[in-house]
Amino acid sequence: MTEMRTEEIFKLAAKKWGKTSQLIVALEELSELQVEIAKHLNGKRPDISGLVDELADVRIMVGQIEHHFKCGHLVAARKGFKLEKLLQMVNEPGKDHPVRSR
Ligand SMILES: [Mg+2]
Repeated sequence: MTEMRTEEIFKLAAKKWGKTSQLIVALEELSELQVEIAKHLNGKRPDISGLVDELADVRIMVGQIEHHFKCGHLVAARKGFKLEKLLQMVNEPGKDHPVRSR
């Protein structure tokens, strides 16, 4: 799937269902991913097929959010910055996990 084709599909989805509706679906898909992660952690999933399915859904919806706000380029730049920051934290000796240390 090319980036151009993906953008075309996002445009068609927004046109058919409306941007607000697509944002609501994005929230739903994020929740579904949360449930799959929880089930995986609780040992209620024998394989990762559900997780893979929800990750795909979330990636599609995140793409639609970026499309809606026309901010994909900003997100890409911010992601690069945050990955570099993560790398620094990973390489810092003795650094606690940012979430677990709270
Ligand atoms: Mg889903």
